[in-house]
Amino acid sequence: MKLLEYEAKRVFSGYGIPVPKGVVIRAPEEIAAHLPEIGDSVVLKAQVDVGGRGKAGGVLMADDATAEETARELFSREIKGVPVGEILVEERLAIEHEYYVSIAVDRSSRQPVVLFADAGGVEIENAARADESAVRRVVVSPLLRDIPPFLMRELLGGAPKELAPVINSLYHVFQEKDAMLAEVNPLVKTPQGVYAADAKLIVDDNALARQGIAVNRDLSEREREAEKHGFSYVELDGSIGVIGNGAGLTMSTLDLIEYYQGRAANFLDVGGGADQERVMHAVRLVASMPKVAVIVVNLLGGITRCDEVAKGIIAAGVAPTVVVRMAGTNEEEGRRLLAECGYRMLESMDAAVKAAMEVAK
Ligand code: GDP
Ligand code: MN
Repeated sequence: MKLLEYEAKRVFSGYGIPVPKGVVIRAPEEIAAHLPEIGDSVVLKAQVDVGGRGKAGGVLMADDATAEETARELFSREIKGVPVGEILVEERLAIEHEYYVSIAVDRSSRQPVVLFADAGGVEIENAARADESAVRRVVVSPLLRDIPPFLMRELLGGAPKELAPVINSLYHVFQEKDAMLAEVNPLVKTPQGVYAADAKLIVDDNALARQGIAVNRDLSEREREAEKHGFSYVELDGSIGVIGNGAGLTMSTLDLIEYYQGRAANFLDVGGGADQERVMHAVRLVASMPKVAVIVVNLLGGITRCDEVAKGIIAAGVAPTVVVRMAGTNEEEGRRLLAECGYRMLESMDAAVKAAMEVAK
């Protein structure tokens, strides 16, 4: 789950990383009361979860005379389609230089990788694309508590040594917060010292309970519902709903839809031993997507009994057409139950997908 900038800064600050003085406001009138404490020269930053926020008009400068109207302006904007509900008001830093630092998991070595660039800021992607050597990277063993000095020197190159403790603290955040990504862009040098002017922290979804995060905000209501039932569920952008048991069978159903140039609306694996109740919830969940015109249920009966599945489909009683392919335990009973209620049960996965394609058209 991705934290908002001000939440990430709160975490970073707890690890000794200097962050600008700031406060979160929810209405333009709130700003005046905070200026005496923050200062006359401020930066207003929309707290929205979008990349390239500054370039999209989500970061504005103001002084005491213009603060309130600037806040009003920012609240009225949508940043890449996202409305602004909260603004982080911060003291404006006198930036001498902007650096880039991030820590992520390197998939190939399965270890933390630290990236650093001398030219940070809003153009970092373009700079990195134009010149690969603009970004230095070191891989750090997860068994180490600190980034070893020789790796830190390699990372920093000619950049000021005073950045090193900040980067090392960021490494502690990364380790202890079960992060997928900890990023500071820009990490800035000012006459008053080094500051994290921006902050990004993504916590591994599998570690939310350990991190004391009760609700994953990044999930849609449907994704949360799926999580509650223990379904593996991913939303896609087509109109053909998919329910399978086992990741392999469900994936091959998606592949077959793609093969016939159809578009799947989702991936849903109900898991093993799905009973009537689980199947009913799965069918209702997929049917609740407005874009779904038809649902393909592709199940192999092993521990899962086809008659239970049939009862679940019937109990769901949803509007989109449900096309079924089932094989295995109690297959005949399942077929009989479905036929009684007017559902089509086809002999093969191929036939089921083709039938669904017809409906989707
Ligand atoms: P992003 O676009 O979402 O990454 O937003 P940032 O928080 O990184 O801000 C974008 C840019 O605004 C930075 O790269 C800086 O150039 C500028 N900026 C942000 N805060 C300050 C500040 O306190 N002082 C000055 N002078 N510029 C700032
Ligand atoms: Mn930034």
